[in-house]
Amino acid sequence: MLLKDKVALITGGAGINGLGYATASLMAQQGARVVVLDLERAAPAEAAQRIGTDHLGLVADVTDKRSCDAAVAAVLERLGRIDILVNNAGITQPVKTLEISGADYDRILDVSLRGTLYMTQAVLPAMRAQQAGSVICISSVSAQRGGGILGGPHYSAAKAGVLGLARAMAREFAPEGIRINCITPGLIGTDIIKGKLDETRKAEIAETIPLGRLGRAADVAGACVFLASDLSSYCTGITLDVNGGMLI
Ligand code: NAD
Repeated sequence: MLLKDKVALITGGAGINGLGYATASLMAQQGARVVVLDLERAAPAEAAQRIGTDHLGLVADVTDKRSCDAAVAAVLERLGRIDILVNNAGITQPVKTLEISGADYDRILDVSLRGTLYMTQAVLPAMRAQQAGSVICISSVSAQRGGGILGGPHYSAAKAGVLGLARAMAREFAPEGIRINCITPGLIGTDIIKGKLDETRKAEIAETIPLGRLGRAADVAGACVFLASDLSSYCTGITLDVNGGMLI
């Protein structure tokens, strides 16, 4: 078991087809107690129960600092520690540059970028006291290749911002034993793409991917477990591409 006795908090982890839920499930299989944090409408308590009785579901909005701090305080009160944070909550909007309103821009950046900052700020004091911790930030191939298949330029900007934020925090907190890394998933078949791509388009995209298929949530979950565990103990500030070879 790679994560025995660890406590892992996964934001945006309640959607049963999502990357966060797959990550929470795999971390639980690896011995972690997991905390699934999500918006109320995503029913995080039910998601945690589906994973197993030892786990916790919490309602929180990552764009709201007080909500993040309260969620982390609840985890520390109930479980006593936080070893792993996965900043996974994110939203997308498939629009072009001239269609992006100020409100759209704020919404997309708030969830991915502000949310990553607020949640990381919330867990850092506990990780600092433990002199250990692993924070994993979910960015996207959209940050690297200048435009996503499903996200607009503001989504690319948010996810590129996550890379910069994570690297800067990684440098700052490495001396305290806290590792901070990013994952850049390619196109993964989750609810975020539901209804946005038909089967023909998916097959066309799969043909352009060297490994010949879209990603699965489990592909990203495996990368998260690696970065959360001691297997990656000498990695900090890295970006792990999980994209089937899209950037080769
Ligand atoms: P998803 O829509 O299934 O999951 C996103 C989750 O975030 C949902 O459960 C949602 O309720 C939650 N969420 C949204 N706003 C929130 C908020 N303010 N506070 C708390 N939770 C909030 O999508 P997914 O595909 O599993 O995406 C997970 C992450 O991976 C996202 O950051 C996404 O941008 C990123 N990503 C996905 C893909 C892909 O192809 N699916 C590719 C690259 C990156």
